[in-house]
Formats: sequence, C-alpha cells, structure tokens
Amino acid sequence: MKTVSSLLDESWHERYRKIASLNIRSSIYDVTNRCNLRCKGCFFFSSNEHEAALEEMELAKWYDFVGREKERGVNLAILIGGEPTLYLDRIEAFHRLLPTYCATNGQIKIPRDRFPDMMVGISLWGDEEDERILRGKDTFAVSRRHYEGDPYTYYLYTITAKQVGRLESVVRKIADAGLKVHFQLLTNDEDVDGFSWSGEKLRDVRSEMDEMLDRYPRTVISCRYYHEVITTGKMMGRSFGWNECPSVTEPLDTRNPRPKRLIRFIRWASDLKTMHRCCTSETRDCSTCKDGAAHMSWIMVNKRDHLRSTEDLQNWIEVYEMFAKLYRFIPW
Ligand code: SF4
Ligand code: SF4
Repeated sequence: MKTVSSLLDESWHERYRKIASLNIRSSIYDVTNRCNLRCKGCFFFSSNEHEAALEEMELAKWYDFVGREKERGVNLAILIGGEPTLYLDRIEAFHRLLPTYCATNGQIKIPRDRFPDMMVGISLWGDEEDERILRGKDTFAVSRRHYEGDPYTYYLYTITAKQVGRLESVVRKIADAGLKVHFQLLTNDEDVDGFSWSGEKLRDVRSEMDEMLDRYPRTVISCRYYHEVITTGKMMGRSFGWNECPSVTEPLDTRNPRPKRLIRFIRWASDLKTMHRCCTSETRDCSTCKDGAAHMSWIMVNKRDHLRSTEDLQNWIEVYEMFAKLYRFIPW
C-alpha cells in the first residue's frame, strides 16, 4: 500500500500533520425537546424524537452527565435540540467542561459575555421566500442581526432543490454580514412539494456550490470533494447508506460487518439516558439521507481508502480540514 509520505509533498504533508494529531471524539446532545419554530422537514419533530424521552429538568444532573461524557473521552460536544438556546444553563454545563458547538436557529441571541468563544452554527434553509414556506418566517433577517461580524459563528445553509440557481444572493448576504457559511442538502423528510432532489438538480447544485467556493473563498467553508460526495452519495465507488454510515450510536450499532465509524459516538436524548439511533432522524430511510455531517465523517473515517493516489489523499485532507475549521480545531 502507498504511504502518506510517498504521496504528499512537504506543504501537503505539513497540512496532513496538523490534522492527524487532532483525534476528535464527538457526540451529539439533545438539549431540549422544545423549539420556537416548527420547520417542515425538521428531522427531530418529523420522526417524533421530541417524544422519545422526558427532559431532565435538574441542572445538577446535566453537570454530572457532562462530567461523565468527558471521562468517556468526548472532546467535542455538539448541541442540538429542539432549540438549545431556550436553556442557556444547560448549554453552560457543556461549555464549562468541554469544547462545545451549539446549533441554533438564531432567533435567540447567545450572550457572548457568557459564552465568549463557543462555536455557533445557525441553521438556514434558503432565502426569505423558502424560509417562509418551510419555517414560517424569515429567520435569516433576525439571525443576521444577532450575529453580524461574530468570529465564532457560521451559517449551516441547508440547500433545498428550490434554491438551485439562487445560492449567490444568500452567500453574498452572509459575506456582507462578516460571517461564514457551510453547505448541506435538505433530505425533505416530510415530502414538502417541490423540495425533493432529482439527479439533474443534484448535478446543478454541485457545480453551483463549487462556483460559490471559487467566488467566495473567504466566506464558504467547504471543498469540492465534499460537494461531489454529498451530491452523488458515492465515495471510492461505494454508496452511502445504512451499511456505510459512520454516525450511528455506538452501543446501538449491531451491524455486521461493522463499517469504519466514529469511535464512541453517541447521540443522547434530553433525559440524558435514552440514545437515538444516529446523528439525524430515527425513522429516515438511509438511502435518502443527505446529512452533511454524516457524509463528511464517512470520508474522514475512511482515510486508508484514500491512500490510492495523491489526489485522493489531498481530497481527504481537505475534507478533514473543513471539519476541523467548522469546529475551530484549526483557524478558518
Ligand atoms: S429550528 Fe431546528 S429544531 Fe426547530 S423545528 Fe426547525 S429544524 Fe427543527
Ligand atoms: S439516517 Fe443518515 S445519519 Fe442516520 S443512520 Fe441513516 S444514513 Fe446514517
């Protein structure tokens, strides 16, 4: 087999060294079952995960739990929900003990005096028109006002089939607000009319994402290989799906043979006892899953397969760097 050193020149090798030492161990936590929005296509509510467990209400139990997670080896806590900002005290339990990333719809501003350097990812589902259809309001206007110029915040832009051809107006507004953006694709778990993907739309969105990356390199945190894998669902000739997914909760993972996967990954419900199947929807048909983080992790855990050629290994490095930038393990 080819080795890393034989495939990379000195500058790529240096980039490789920076990420190879990171050893990221993430897990995902539902901070609450409540949300101040109800988006059509939200995997959490559409799969009834908000009813899977009763929320732990005692704050001391959250602190105990996070301490145990730290002992378990977790070094990146990814907070989702529901809407985590409805419970800042619970967020603080994580932030005090672990590097923490908080996903939010951006409608409640996270106070920076309390969480000065916490990574924040704001969900965005398109331009004003699509956000009104899918989320009931133009969340973008509010979140932009709350986070303009914030150095620890980026938009997680969930691109829908209807957004194809219209990405630039959104990306430009994010650039103008002094923020960053990362792309992923809507899975359309609730079959909202007009928001499902066709092969043609996926091809088009791939080239449009590439174009945005070229035109806005200081704003878009992404890379071409990620665009390829997420739009085709293929990597090294293999197809993404249940048999390949790396983001399955480890104690619930009964797959045999077990694919390469995230070590010690668990997605916890808000009772701090119940585990969900994976990083997204309990009920989603994996063959339709477009989850960006799961695709990104799929690439990252399969380094060995990318030792085929210099180009393959460089692609792998770029995806790993993208992930590390999104959680600020390396600067963007
Ligand atoms: S803001 Fe997030 S958690 Fe709330 S309904 Fe929308 S997608 Fe779901
Ligand atoms: S729904 Fe997606 S993230 Fe969950 S197990 Fe299936 S492929 Fe993986």
